[in-house]
Amino acid sequence: PVRTRFAPSPTGPLHIGGARTALFVWAYARHHGGQFILRIEDTDPERSERRWEDEILDGFRWLGIDWDEGPDVGGPFGPYRQSERAAMHLGVAAQLRRAGWAYPCFCTRERLDAVREQQQARRETARYDGLCRDLDDETVKRRIDAGETFVLRFRVPEGSTTFQDQIRGRVTFEHAEVDDWVMVRGDGAPTYNLVCVCDDSAMQISHVIRGEEHLVNTPKQILLYQALGEPIPSFAHVPLMLAVGGKKMSKRDGDTALADYRRKGYPVEAVINFLALQGWALDGETEVFSRQQLVEHFDVGVVSKSGSVFDLQKLSWLSEQYVRTESPGQVLDHGLPYLESAGLANAAAVAADRAWFERATETARERITTYSDLPDQLAYLFAADDAVEYDEKALAAATKQGTVHLAAWHAWARERLVEPIDAAALGAATKDWIGESGIKLPQLFQPLRCVLSGKPGGPDLFEIVALLGAARTTARIESGLA
Ligand code: GLU
Repeated sequence: PVRTRFAPSPTGPLHIGGARTALFVWAYARHHGGQFILRIEDTDPERSERRWEDEILDGFRWLGIDWDEGPDVGGPFGPYRQSERAAMHLGVAAQLRRAGWAYPCFCTRERLDAVREQQQARRETARYDGLCRDLDDETVKRRIDAGETFVLRFRVPEGSTTFQDQIRGRVTFEHAEVDDWVMVRGDGAPTYNLVCVCDDSAMQISHVIRGEEHLVNTPKQILLYQALGEPIPSFAHVPLMLAVGGKKMSKRDGDTALADYRRKGYPVEAVINFLALQGWALDGETEVFSRQQLVEHFDVGVVSKSGSVFDLQKLSWLSEQYVRTESPGQVLDHGLPYLESAGLANAAAVAADRAWFERATETARERITTYSDLPDQLAYLFAADDAVEYDEKALAAATKQGTVHLAAWHAWARERLVEPIDAAALGAATKDWIGESGIKLPQLFQPLRCVLSGKPGGPDLFEIVALLGAARTTARIESGLA
């Protein structure tokens, strides 16, 4: 049976690249009808915080990535926080020490630094030189009894480790390059490679799919599985998500946290679709696809070996595709928090006049990229006292056409501006009026648009008139003419 896991460290917000890895891990489990486990790697007490764990779980809930076992729901292999499993980790360390796979090392930080400097000066790979590797039992006992601090190192044997990575193919590491790594720190805290193997093994993880930055850890972990006589899972290392230009994505390149995209109002389906396209493709052609399609077709083996470039324009494009397929009501519901924080409307106001708000949203739906763009598009409808701010372009276009036609049209339209305004009928009648007046369309439309919305372009003018209603339309025209 397929059992996969995502194992975030709760030391900060969930990185967008981490979310993408998690999506692949989840999709792999779901595709194979297996289980997806969430394990919190909070082994660094200084940097781990519960609020980050909460935020990470919340991010997955938003994405619709569901887990079968985890810190909140429990499961048969719990606990799912590594900090709560320390006794087991240390038990395994002790067992490895008894079997000769681990040895205490008393080298001080100063000595290790000096060794590293010498190695660097000789252009050698920095690694532990093995001074404490073969201390006899008596010496070890004497030094421990004397109160010397020590770490526990794994005794890496000679040779090499080869494994089949599902993404990268055959990978070989010479053990000469693999350090006698620290399993338990001087303060008694077990380290990542030890706890990772203990837990993946105890939780019967069959497929380890994780970020490429962990590739160097894999030979250490495989050696540990072998030392413990435990079955070795299958590995897949997902390449990094890169910033445009090919560098690792950092804060400087824009938003790196998943939560940033949620906050900015990208539809979750667009985010999922976008992340799935980072290194994977449905069929090489279809760009817009659903979570269900992802699950149905996902194969980790075809994930690209090279880093994928985070292309914000692609995300924006996808976002627009998804917004356009939603009903005005759905866009309104998603946009409401943004209308609220912009001070334009709140839930009660929307509930009281839902039809009007949906109609207003419909005029904006084609013009927004994310839900957070909604207030910008609708703000003119809410101008206090109908005092519309004209933007420069709108004003220039209006002035160029002159306002005399606006006054004439308003005089003609006055008796037609009664509720309910039929936008289509008013539009048709106005076009006839324009024909009879012998003027050109922009000569009326530019000034009218300017006084009603303050913008040079936008949705159908008569939709705007209908949304504003007779009184406010008149008020805006009059103050524009004044
Ligand atoms: N806690 C590790 C990380 O966040 C997990 C590595 C792994 O998946 O083995 O990078």
